[in-house]
Amino acid sequence: MHPVQHDVHRDPQRKPVIGVLALQGAFAAHQRVLADLGADTRQVRNAIDLATVDALVMPGGESTTMSMLLESTELFDPIARRIADQMPVFGTCAGMILLATDVLDGRPDQRRFGAIHLSVRRNGYGRQVDSFESDIEVEGLDGPLHAVFIRAPKVESVEPGVHVLARHEGVPVLAREGAVLVASFHPELTDDHRLHAAFLDMVHTAVAAARPSA
Ligand code: GLN
Repeated sequence: MHPVQHDVHRDPQRKPVIGVLALQGAFAAHQRVLADLGADTRQVRNAIDLATVDALVMPGGESTTMSMLLESTELFDPIARRIADQMPVFGTCAGMILLATDVLDGRPDQRRFGAIHLSVRRNGYGRQVDSFESDIEVEGLDGPLHAVFIRAPKVESVEPGVHVLARHEGVPVLAREGAVLVASFHPELTDDHRLHAAFLDMVHTAVAAARPSA
């Protein structure tokens, strides 16, 4: 048995704790948005932190660097186990790359969790459009969402079990498979918090489903 077990479901009345992977990248902005929405948040830097959270946000940043830091902090395998155990995860930009099954133009030694069946190309929008913004229609949300793309990964294909929730010029930019939500843009950089709110709904549903019935 692994020494660090997650024990977050012991108190059935407890509010879920949302972890934010805080090794590198835009984790502070995610934490602010989640706190604004009234969530309990915690920065996750090691397996002990991970054991205290019910869900995890993987921020934008640099997926190759995050991959190396996930190895050196010995967080990669514990996170993989929690994902296999249905922990809800929300990956944005580099976080999407970490969660994908296939990464094109990655470093050969770059690791990924393979938690959502899609193929992404790192920096796939090319140098000319390094960064851009666009209003996108999102399934389940009323009114367009302003999306900020920064050296974003481009989704090249999705497998049938993946639900595409938004597209930009026909390309999927927001997708969900089970408890895994990924966006190729940065929802933490705008004042519109509807995607984080949707993720918190996913977490509440997952936590309620995992509770032993009284
Ligand atoms: N290009 C970065 C990577 O490959 C992702 C950029 C971002 O997260 N804003 O990881």
